[in-house]
Amino acid sequence: MPCEFCDDTGWKPIEENGIRRVVRCDCRRARLGQERLAESNIPKRYQHCTIANFTAYNESLERAAVQAAAIADAFPVVSRGLFLEGQPGVGKTHLAVAVLKQVIQSTGARGVFYDTRDLLRVIRSTYDPSIRTTELEVLRPVMTADLLVLDDLGAEKTSEWVEETMNLIVNTRYNERRLTMFTSNYEDIPDDTDPNSLLFRIGHRMRSRLHEMCDFVVMDGADYREMPVNGGVDDLITLWKTRKRSSQPLPARAGRQARAQLREPVRDGKADLKWPGGRAGS
Ligand SMILES: [Zn+2]
Repeated sequence: MPCEFCDDTGWKPIEENGIRRVVRCDCRRARLGQERLAESNIPKRYQHCTIANFTAYNESLERAAVQAAAIADAFPVVSRGLFLEGQPGVGKTHLAVAVLKQVIQSTGARGVFYDTRDLLRVIRSTYDPSIRTTELEVLRPVMTADLLVLDDLGAEKTSEWVEETMNLIVNTRYNERRLTMFTSNYEDIPDDTDPNSLLFRIGHRMRSRLHEMCDFVVMDGADYREMPVNGGVDDLITLWKTRKRSSQPLPARAGRQARAQLREPVRDGKADLKWPGGRAGS
């Protein structure tokens, strides 16, 4: 059905002080928002997520929701992104997607979602040594999006290539002052020997960059995936308290995997954009 105000021309006639002219029709922004949303790469199972349907049943979750809403409402007049940190299933991705969706829909901005491991996999798979630019077709929208969500940072298997690729993406966005939001299961503790720490997973250089770009928000709560069918907030609170008591901060698997990997000890904090290309070597 064509738009009743502009007949799908994108311009609607108005009359002001007896003078007729045309202005941009609201349906255009709405349609642009819909198109951009379709290109945003938000996974199906998160497409329903909004800030309004996020359940905040404790102080840390409320604080996270308030900060997420503040960014979504103020965009594009926002200088710092968000780093949502917490155990699996507390709703980090829900909130990040909610901000992304609201920003795209209300402003028509270009917003992109990527699971960090998927992104690295795609970059790797598109690399063609004979055409060295191929991977840039994947990288460009990631680096130039008005808002980027990088989900599950730190879960990727580390290597020199991974580190350099991540540095390229993050530093390019930082230098261009583009907003980025991250989620991570890893704790931001200043201990680079603890395999469960963010620092161990991503290194000093990346961590200090992230602190320059983002406000860090710790989310503490239950794993919503453990909630019984037709369960409610009470179940979440019970699960959250059980989780707190057992205080097993991270899945053992992640720790073992991380421990098995060798970290190179030297990080000099310089040479931001040294990227070797899509070569997935090392
Ligand atoms: Zn219209």
